[in-house]
Amino acid sequence: MMTSLPPYWVDPLKDQFTVTIADSRPTEEHFETTIEENVVKAAGGGQAGDRGILRIDQEEFVVLDTILRDSVVVMLTEKCATKGMKATLIIDMDWRLSTMRNHTAEHLFAAALKERYPALSPGAMWIDGDHGTVEMVGARVGLRDLFSAEKSVQNTILRDIPVSTEIVKASELDKSIRVREGVEAKHETVRVVRIGDSDAAACSGTHVLRTGDIGVFKIIDYKMEEESVHVEFLTGNRAVTILYDLFNAALERRRSHPFELEQLGAVLDKGKQVTSELAKVMEKMEHLLDRGPTVEDIGGISFRHEFLPGFEVSSLKRILKNITLDGPSAILYFAPGEKCNLVFWSNDLPHEATFYINDEVTKLGGKGGGSKQVYTGGFSDVDNPEGIYDDLVEQVRAHLLHG
Ligand SMILES: [Zn+2]
Repeated sequence: MMTSLPPYWVDPLKDQFTVTIADSRPTEEHFETTIEENVVKAAGGGQAGDRGILRIDQEEFVVLDTILRDSVVVMLTEKCATKGMKATLIIDMDWRLSTMRNHTAEHLFAAALKERYPALSPGAMWIDGDHGTVEMVGARVGLRDLFSAEKSVQNTILRDIPVSTEIVKASELDKSIRVREGVEAKHETVRVVRIGDSDAAACSGTHVLRTGDIGVFKIIDYKMEEESVHVEFLTGNRAVTILYDLFNAALERRRSHPFELEQLGAVLDKGKQVTSELAKVMEKMEHLLDRGPTVEDIGGISFRHEFLPGFEVSSLKRILKNITLDGPSAILYFAPGEKCNLVFWSNDLPHEATFYINDEVTKLGGKGGGSKQVYTGGFSDVDNPEGIYDDLVEQVRAHLLHG
């Protein structure tokens, strides 16, 4: 039994083999080359196949991928090899080792998530030398738990736990072993990959010998749905590189636009908010350029009012200072946002500014006050600033008319 196990299972670090070309035939894109020995791993079980080079005499044949074609292990080569020739197969160990890191990390991550959500079971998975993607189905996963599972994977990596494999009878699999649905029915024996005492899973892939070999585990994308979570991740130097690049992108901007790195999230939120405010400002500007300021005549009183996104109280006041009011008039400037601000200015009217607006501001849940001519007010946690503005305008109109 043990002698029939392929070398990529027994000793995944062995990277050179003397092989004999069994066949090599053209397809549309490549040549499909087979060898007599069972030493190269084909794609399957959610894991990409081996890559490498076949060296025949002095000539090198690049192995782009290894796949199963009608249950036969087939290497995709760029050139046609001669049947019966002896060759040296050199496995692309960067690809193989990275795949091993990613696959082992997938075990750790799936186990860490399952610990947090026992209802989860494995969904689609793809592991190759660049990255890993894994899907778990059966529960809605919270972001906090996703990130805590990520941290727990990194802790297991640091503990440098040995990874071992064994072949067991499918009938002897117990609940402590993570198994994809249907595996017991399909196979008589199953290969079980154990990571210390903490995890055991049925798997035909390649794995590192110790968790420390993974180096670093980093989630780079996720998608949460009602009943599933989909995660993309990197390990080893590929994870380190992206962390360096990302951190340095922030570090570089921290010099030109001062902020604390731990406030990066708030900085991005602010950027998003500014973008959406700018769009509203542009819309308002188009409106002003097109139609000019809104000025109504209410029974001989001139009433100007504007909805002004992106403005603050100080800038509203600055605008008002530059406007010369002549005769009975009133101005209402309203700056919308989650917090709304307004300034109301009256000139040559029978009542103080407060009279025309304060009741409605209070009624709508805001606060305000002011001197004889100027009233300033504000609202917090506003859902519908347009509605508040419209109500205020209507109320001021009524007071101007009947006041
Ligand atoms: Zn595996």
